[in-house]
Amino acid sequence: MMQQYLAIKAEFPDTLVFYRMGDFYELFWDDAEKAGRLLDITITRRGQSAGQPVVMAGVPFHSVEGYLARLIKLGESVAICEQVGDVATSKGPVERKVVRVVTPGTLTDSELLSEKSEALLLAVHQGKKARCGLAWLSVTQGVIHLAECAHDELADWIDRIAPAELLASAGMTQTFEDRLRQIRAQHRGAGLSLALRPDFQFDAGLGQRKLQEQMQAASLAAWSADTLHDAHAAASALLTYAEHTQGRNLPHVQSIRVQRSDTLIDLPPATRRNLELVQTLRGEDSPTLFSLLDTCMTGMGSRMLKGWLLSPQRDRAQSQERLAAIAQLQASGAWSTLREQFKGASDVERITARTALRQVRPRELVALRFALERADGLAHTLQTLAPPEGTLLARLARWLTPPAGCAALLGQSLLEEPAALVRDGGVIAPGLDAELDELRAIQTNCDSFLLDLETRERARTGIANLRVQFNKVHGFYIEVTQGQLDKVPEDYRRRQTLKNAERFITPELKTFEDKALSAQERALAREKWLYEGLLDQLQSFVPALTGLAQAMAGLDALCTLSERAITLNWCAPEFTREPCIDIRAGRHPVVEARLAELSGGSFIANDTVMGPRQRLQIITGPNMGGKSTYMRQVALIVLLASIGSHVPASSCRLGPIDAIHTRIGAADDLANAQSTFMLEMTEAAQILHSATPHSLVLMDEIGRGTSTFDGLALASGIATHLHNKVQCFGLFATHYFELTEFPATHTAAVNMHVSAAESGSDIVFLHEIQPGPASRSYGVQVARLAGMPAAVLNHARHTLQALESGAQDARAQVDLFAPPPEAEVTGPTAVEAALAQINPDALSPREALDALYSLQRLL
Ligand code: ADP
Repeated sequence: MMQQYLAIKAEFPDTLVFYRMGDFYELFWDDAEKAGRLLDITITRRGQSAGQPVVMAGVPFHSVEGYLARLIKLGESVAICEQVGDVATSKGPVERKVVRVVTPGTLTDSELLSEKSEALLLAVHQGKKARCGLAWLSVTQGVIHLAECAHDELADWIDRIAPAELLASAGMTQTFEDRLRQIRAQHRGAGLSLALRPDFQFDAGLGQRKLQEQMQAASLAAWSADTLHDAHAAASALLTYAEHTQGRNLPHVQSIRVQRSDTLIDLPPATRRNLELVQTLRGEDSPTLFSLLDTCMTGMGSRMLKGWLLSPQRDRAQSQERLAAIAQLQASGAWSTLREQFKGASDVERITARTALRQVRPRELVALRFALERADGLAHTLQTLAPPEGTLLARLARWLTPPAGCAALLGQSLLEEPAALVRDGGVIAPGLDAELDELRAIQTNCDSFLLDLETRERARTGIANLRVQFNKVHGFYIEVTQGQLDKVPEDYRRRQTLKNAERFITPELKTFEDKALSAQERALAREKWLYEGLLDQLQSFVPALTGLAQAMAGLDALCTLSERAITLNWCAPEFTREPCIDIRAGRHPVVEARLAELSGGSFIANDTVMGPRQRLQIITGPNMGGKSTYMRQVALIVLLASIGSHVPASSCRLGPIDAIHTRIGAADDLANAQSTFMLEMTEAAQILHSATPHSLVLMDEIGRGTSTFDGLALASGIATHLHNKVQCFGLFATHYFELTEFPATHTAAVNMHVSAAESGSDIVFLHEIQPGPASRSYGVQVARLAGMPAAVLNHARHTLQALESGAQDARAQVDLFAPPPEAEVTGPTAVEAALAQINPDALSPREALDALYSLQRLL
């Protein structure tokens, strides 16, 4: 057996091999040690192999999914090695085979997958002339994506694709490998595992042939993918690996999508992070734009919507089409009917993929049948809207119509509530197969035969409490209690002795047992065979089911966008040819939702009007005034409009957009050992290089990371470059008050400020964006709100006055550390005075509460 194991292990050197032995999967030697460490399971030493004790660790087969999930999360891959030979007939160890390899990027089990995101496998090929080819897929989807890019764009691509597993050639150059490792280190969550594959698997010719076979086409021209040789090479490794892990080919993968960076609105990693599209800055799933948007009824819908959000198209045709669909869903009210119809629908996309891979379980197929009924209902609802031919809804209605015969086939083949696993039997419906019915009849007749035998034997022997029974271990037997043993006839053979009874078998019972047990075995085998046959028949439906799943997901996402727009009071955007961003009463959807949830407070809406003659807004005002919120809301509205969603505003007109760049925040990137300032400048430089007149650029407090003069000089340099050279749409928030002079000499720039009102020495933020520069910076007031000690505030206020008056005479020296004059001390505020009056010990609980209320009124 160890020889068999070692031969299998040799084929999977970098993969943990789970070797099936009875009810356990065992791991040996290094694998055992590793699993012991990672899973905290006991390691034992047993027997000897080649003079060494065998180190082993095992997990019970029925709870293997949980262990797999943990290993995959840690980036490990596992080869599942099952007994495939017949235990009864084989001499020596039973034949075993690796039936599948579970890796982070090729998961198919619903238990291991997140419902709302895809596990993607990405192959990267190092091409010539600093180009690379990319090919990626999710084995639970029917699409292969291809792309080509320059080496220095690779990090962006990998970040956008967000794969779970990366494949690269063992023969790549050291520089390229360093680049990949660096990208991997930076990858969010660091959960990206890298598998090196032999160089010959990255073969463009082979890749092209494999793709053609997959598409069952003689050329890839129909997908505009015939000349992407670097991507073909990546696809060759991708498909080889995916097939290797599944132990078979992937018949459901039947379409190619070529992604070109110049067709998508560019959302660099920093933008996705800063705008908190699918993850908060702290790495949580909520609150984000996606968590607000995603009220989808199915996991497929959620995954589709996330895909839309992260890959907005530059061309407006797609968003126009979605907007038209939403308009029709809203006008007819169908969105809510449809959402009701979606309730409880299963994940057709994943079930279809698992069907194609022949891993599907009986209950999933029953769920598929109900989902098909739902799809039919959805198609029907859409048809009653009579969507004009060629529109998105009309296309969805067509795709949603289930393939003829599929539901009927499932209905007549499977029991309504089948067993969880085929090997347990109880899966195939009666009436499908005469032989199975007959074998089952033998088992059912069993009961009446046994009753009959019991009556006869009681009469023959005169033992009144004689019983004929069955158990799994000992088979059939006749049980006689101790006191009656003397009445037992000659032909009874002893089978088992218990404390108070003896168990016997007779020739007649033995003959029956053989028949019944073999009937059971044969019925099980028959069911397995029929199930395999059902899977064969289902293969022809796979392409239609894949399309149907896509249509369900798309419709779910559209209904969700319709629902969100109504619930959150959003409006439909309009697209224009001329460059403009014209938003009236725009809101930041996530901040607005949070305000409503936490304090019931209302969000202050703001306008944004930018066009060819007003491209750069210099935004000033106090910290906490709402500058970042305002800038982000503009970016979010532009993004939402670009995916075809309604937007949080009262109206929105939008010209062409090719990218959204952001330089926000100053979180130290400790992992990369880059100083805040270095990072700030790197990001700013990237933006200046890549932004175009059609880009939206957000810059928040650029230059903050260095000394005042340095920072101011850089900030004004950057503003000038954005204004004169790049000519993009720019929102430029700054605390350098000097920059408010900029618009005077730069015609396409305007000053905006966030308003604040002072009451005494307190400050009230109004969060309104108004034209013109801010009057003061209010820094001291904000510090006061933050609970800075009064003495520090007093000192700062004094120094500020000195600096401000000194500024007129060419920055005359101000002694920053001189103590403030005594007279400057301000009296207590109203709240402080009232608080001082209170004697907590003298208050009843009721009075304390009243006091709290009156204190709050003073704020
Ligand atoms: P700044 O960038 O000027 O320091 P922020 O944009 O971070 O200020 O805003 C600070 C806080 O003010 C936000 O967390 C939010 O709670 C609130 N806020 C900002 N803008 C608005 C608004 N338009 N309406 C209501 N509250 C707002």
